[in-house]
Amino acid sequence: MSNHTLYWTRADLRWHDNPAFAASYEAASAAGAVVHVLYIDCPAQWQAHGYGQARMALEQTSVQHMLQSATKPNTGATNLHMHVLTSDDFAGVPSLLLKFCQQHGIAALYANRQYEINEVTRDRAVHTLLKNNHIPCHWFEDQCLLPPKQVLNLQAEPYRVFTAYKKNVLAALAQQAHDPLPTPCAQPAHTLEQQALDALAQFVHSQQATHYQRDRDFPGVEGTSKLAAFMAVGLLTTRQCVQAWCNAGHALESVWVSELIWRDYYRYVMSHYPHVGQGKNFKSFNQPIAWANNPAHFTAWCNGQTGYPLVDAAMRCLNSTGFMHNRLRMVVAMFLCKHLRIDWRWGERYFLQQLQDADYCSNNGGWQWCAGTGVDAAPYFRIFNPTTQSQKFDGEGEFIRQWLPELAHLPNTVIHTPSNHVLRPANYPAPIIEHVAARQACLAMYKQANGTVV
Ligand code: FAD
Repeated sequence: MSNHTLYWTRADLRWHDNPAFAASYEAASAAGAVVHVLYIDCPAQWQAHGYGQARMALEQTSVQHMLQSATKPNTGATNLHMHVLTSDDFAGVPSLLLKFCQQHGIAALYANRQYEINEVTRDRAVHTLLKNNHIPCHWFEDQCLLPPKQVLNLQAEPYRVFTAYKKNVLAALAQQAHDPLPTPCAQPAHTLEQQALDALAQFVHSQQATHYQRDRDFPGVEGTSKLAAFMAVGLLTTRQCVQAWCNAGHALESVWVSELIWRDYYRYVMSHYPHVGQGKNFKSFNQPIAWANNPAHFTAWCNGQTGYPLVDAAMRCLNSTGFMHNRLRMVVAMFLCKHLRIDWRWGERYFLQQLQDADYCSNNGGWQWCAGTGVDAAPYFRIFNPTTQSQKFDGEGEFIRQWLPELAHLPNTVIHTPSNHVLRPANYPAPIIEHVAARQACLAMYKQANGTVV
């Protein structure tokens, strides 16, 4: 056995500020050995997880950029050799890794932790098999600002309320320096990684950052960072985002950092309550929720044909671009679960297929928040009125006009409720459900599940 190390890259497709890569490089350098970098493609597993084309294309491109940059000589003394292997699903990964380690004389494996249940099960199997073959595995915390197991309340239990969790994280961060991890080698950022770092730098120094709190809820305004896709494949972390934000002179206690902490929080929840990753509600109900699950309604929702302009514009934007604004994700998700009474898991899966920033933990957390089944979620009786949301957050109809050209000619007074008007074009549907009746049916559905009198 030689002293070569293996850095196994998964949801961390970058070189900089990467704890597992840094440690594997350091260990190999100290021994004058090689760092092998390995990515394992698992097509059947990705398919089972439901990730779609937009998300997977970004992951594959990131891997290609890593490969290209690994073949260029770095100015450090240690060589990198990058490899891509395929195992149909996670079950084949442990034996594939063992074989790789034996073929390449690997002394130890280094990887950053993941928190989703299938990933945790896979990593435990890898750890046991390699350990039994005298190859130690070193696992690092990378994805969250603080390791999930470290943030506990006074009773040593995980926080079930976001604000308490956030307070704890902010207090710990306030004590820390906001400097990136030293990159032990001179491995330059790969092209896509550099693009992500540039986008982050551009955002934190922009007017959008300054006015984030004011503008972030308006889909017709470019008011958010659009960094989520980079984060989904690990080209950026919340740690790097907070560092850049604070180093640009913004306050740590700010709305943007709070949003980043929501991302961490959903990983935290997944790590402490793995049942949410098994298609289950976070909250328990006395009875199963009796979803209506009307397939025709689901198709209308997916295709942006519900007759509610803001919902339809949002869905058509998602289908065309792979992105949807956060306010709109809440509006369409609540509409699906609470107006159409369709199981949140249908929407969760559709979002994973469509979003470029599809992220299992954030998506599950967002859907369960909207459905009222999640940790610290919107209560079941909080039901967004899609028309009021439209008037409030797209008052001038700017966003609606962009995505529903058939309504573009309507005046602002009509565009949110075209069905009430003689000007409604024949090619735009009437609402598939009426708000007041839908609201009552929704309340009855949840009350029954809670075991309270309807
Ligand atoms: P910004 O507003 O600039 O926020 C900065 C970063 O903070 C984001 O990039 C993201 O990493 C994080 N963030 C912001 N808001 C949230 C939030 N509410 N929850 C968790 N993290 C947040 N986010 C994903 O990254 N992937 C998903 O698959 C995903 N699915 C969602 C599904 C639903 C139903 C809902 C309501 C929200 C979902 N979100 C998801 C959260 C949020 O909508 C997106 O992160 C955000 O819209 C991305 O845009 P941005 O990068 O411009 O965010």
